[in-house]
Amino acid sequence: MTLQLSNRHGRLSQSPIRAMSHECRRLGGINLAQGICDLPLPPLLGEAAAAAIAAGHNLYTRYDGIPELRAAIARRQGRDHGLEMDPENELVVSCGATGAFYVACLALLDPGDEVILFEPYYGYHLSTLHLVQAAPAFVGLDPADNWSFKVEELAAAITPRTRAIMINTPANPCGKVFSRHEIEQIRDLAVAHDLIIFTDEIYEYFIYDDLRHLAPATVEGMAERTVTISGLSKTFHVTGWRLGYLSCRADWAAAMGQLNDQIYVCPPAPLQYAAAEALSKMPADFYSTMRRESEIKRDMLCDALRRAGFPPHVPQGAYYVLADISRLPGRDSWERAMTILHKSGVASVPGSAFFRGRQGEGLSRFCFAMEMDIIEDACRRLVAASF
Ligand code: PLP
Repeated sequence: MTLQLSNRHGRLSQSPIRAMSHECRRLGGINLAQGICDLPLPPLLGEAAAAAIAAGHNLYTRYDGIPELRAAIARRQGRDHGLEMDPENELVVSCGATGAFYVACLALLDPGDEVILFEPYYGYHLSTLHLVQAAPAFVGLDPADNWSFKVEELAAAITPRTRAIMINTPANPCGKVFSRHEIEQIRDLAVAHDLIIFTDEIYEYFIYDDLRHLAPATVEGMAERTVTISGLSKTFHVTGWRLGYLSCRADWAAAMGQLNDQIYVCPPAPLQYAAAEALSKMPADFYSTMRRESEIKRDMLCDALRRAGFPPHVPQGAYYVLADISRLPGRDSWERAMTILHKSGVASVPGSAFFRGRQGEGLSRFCFAMEMDIIEDACRRLVAASF
């Protein structure tokens, strides 16, 4: 038999997060590897979803999302981030931010087009580019300088094949929040080379130290070239609901909507109704409380990592800490993260998952989106273990 899998599939690799989670389960440890939040979903959402199913909202919907949800997303994004959009024509509701990025890539990229990712990167951004046969290019963020980038390096990474730059703010895994100055630097290069900007803002409500989320599309000159991607997974603790969306100019959104139809037909029907209700009715202090509680957990985990001898790169946003574990023996970050798991029972993601080269080998990523008692337990274990 010579029947083989496609090249596309061959470029995908098994996520180390799954392998680490498996080992963590085997050992009965605390899983700070997975990027999921185990907090209960806000009651309003659960009740609205049950009501939507009972009311018979169980059939296909419009492929790019029901009008009620589109209107609710547009209202909230305008209110909270000054991100204005025409809900009828400039918005596509998809199956998660992951689905939104995939249809955006399918609509705008041809095989061989280059897309620049900042490194450390989020694995699905890279694998989505592989799936559409685009070519990733990388620009490093400097861990010693607050994960800044050098604009000369970004300029040097642009070639005649470059089509887009991805901005993930706040970023997974390093927690970087891109400043206005940085976004303007990226904008100037994008305008000069006529590039698309993809932004992944799924952690827009997880932002600390009195920083404010700045949606790149709101920066002057960006709206017509930016695809803004976000979703409900993280903010409402519903990663399994698969609800995300993108906004961009109308001609692009129309194409992305058609692709969304081809791939997903529509986002989950009753959950769209629940999401519309949650977005419309959630009191403003829901977001500020979540942010405050998340910041407390960040500080607890960073403090515990410091005391355990793993200096943390304190994140400005998102809900992960990259910590320096290089003092542990081992050939690579996988072995070092395993040592941490075996000695403390706390699972993390080896830094190599976020870099092409060896820069990640001295790092590991710890997630703090768990219930407070779990974070407290993880902190106790990290501090008590002797590494
Ligand atoms: N984008 C980033 C940067 C993420 O870290 C994640 C999840 O970890 C996602 C997107 C996934 O979003 P969704 O569940 O909406 O597909």
